[in-house]
Amino acid sequence: MNACDLDRHDADAPMFDRAAFRLDDAEAELVAAAQLFGRQRLAPRAAQHDRDATFPMENFRDMHAEGLLAICVPKDEGGAGASFRAYCLAASELGRYCGATALSWNMHVCSTLWTGALADDLIMTTDERREHNERRRLHYKRIVGDGAIYAQPFSEGGAAAAGTVAFGTEARAVAGGFLLNGKKIFASLSGAADYYGVLCTERGEGEKASRRNTLYLAVPAAAGGVSVVGDWDPLGMRGTVSRTLLFNDVFVPEDEMLMPRGVYFRAASCWPHMFLTLSPTYMGLAQAAYDFTVAYLRGELAGTPPVKRRMYPTKQIAVAEMRVMLEQTKALWFQAISEARANPTKEQLLRAYAAQFTVMENANALAARAIRTCGGQAMLKNLALERIYRDSRCGSLMLPWTAEICLDRLGRESLYEPGERDD
Ligand SMILES: Cc1cc2nc3c(=O)[nH]c(=O)nc-3n(C[C@H](O)[C@H](O)[C@H](O)COP(=O)(O)OP(=O)(O)OC[C@H]3O[C@@H](n4cnc5c(N)ncnc54)[C@H](O)[C@@H]3O)c2cc1C
Repeated sequence: MNACDLDRHDADAPMFDRAAFRLDDAEAELVAAAQLFGRQRLAPRAAQHDRDATFPMENFRDMHAEGLLAICVPKDEGGAGASFRAYCLAASELGRYCGATALSWNMHVCSTLWTGALADDLIMTTDERREHNERRRLHYKRIVGDGAIYAQPFSEGGAAAAGTVAFGTEARAVAGGFLLNGKKIFASLSGAADYYGVLCTERGEGEKASRRNTLYLAVPAAAGGVSVVGDWDPLGMRGTVSRTLLFNDVFVPEDEMLMPRGVYFRAASCWPHMFLTLSPTYMGLAQAAYDFTVAYLRGELAGTPPVKRRMYPTKQIAVAEMRVMLEQTKALWFQAISEARANPTKEQLLRAYAAQFTVMENANALAARAIRTCGGQAMLKNLALERIYRDSRCGSLMLPWTAEICLDRLGRESLYEPGERDD
């Protein structure tokens, strides 16, 4: 990004204003810090990582220094102790400036949010709680002290990441830990992360695979038998470098369990909003598409001649419609992230699906509208809009809550109560 780009970003208002959205002090501080970080550090580097499809390691090093790698590590473990909502708000500000970094950061942060604030909400036995608290301390120490980066490779190319069948990647208990075998596709941060937070199925000899036996293991990237394969040349989110991971008889020590046996299944069932954590990045991209359009039509966008286009009624109507869509998206999403909690009501869960669908679809719709409204010069590759357009296209594909799956569940669960049938 050049100096003029920075000028434009200096004028950005917060997406979720402290007073208007009644944020508490901790949220407002995190959001302000994230916005400044996104504007000053992420935005200038975004174009090159997108062009070269390279992982923005320097962003993660800076995030460590700023305390952002530990945003959801509990305060008594040295982190910022951000709540689910505070994290989502901060992440949306990062997504506004670099989608790929925000999405990769989400994969890292979930390793701490899910094992932290979310796990604190789950029912565990005293032994499970003690074991969990001891083990997560190990991960938090690495992150806070050494800036360790965690990835979140769940997808396998089948229905497992959608939550309908057991993961095909399997762990077999051996002395002192597990032997892991399997394959994960689309592993963001592949080759860059220090640990891969792998979901897999624990299976004993002759046992059937069951989702209840899902294990959540932190696999050291340097462990023998871990390899990163395949190319990475996608349409969007190119800086996530989401290549394929292979695990071939990888020994994973027991202490690397991110959750005790059975607890991931409990988390996925009781805290379903955990899967809404991919949406903040795209909320930020939706805002970015709108911001771009306003700056461009006002003739204030860096890298473009200072030509105003705002006086044409067609442009004004387009911006008005974009604003309506953006406000609708923000309002629904803010409601969903505000009411996220353990054991949500049916209404809250349906709203979460609706929010995820809306953010993922509207981010790309706003970017498409921005291109049509701003015109041909606005989609040149020296400007951010065409990257926003490509990055935002990826949102509705993200499992487990893809746009299709959200619609599928919304329709079915609106019409059927649990256990109801038509025969
Ligand atoms: C930029 C990027 C980064 C990513 N990073 C990660 C990552 O870090 N970790 C990770 O685990 N994954 C990641 N993913 C993967 C992503 O979440 C999806 O798993 C992946 O895009 C699915 O690709 P697929 O072709 O295998 O889809 P498929 O599994 O073939 O699904 C295609 C579509 O079919 C539908 N579908 C699939 N299963 C069901 C079902 N059971 N019921 C109803 N509908 C269904 C869905 O709508 C889905 O979009 C990333 C994806 C992208 C694009």
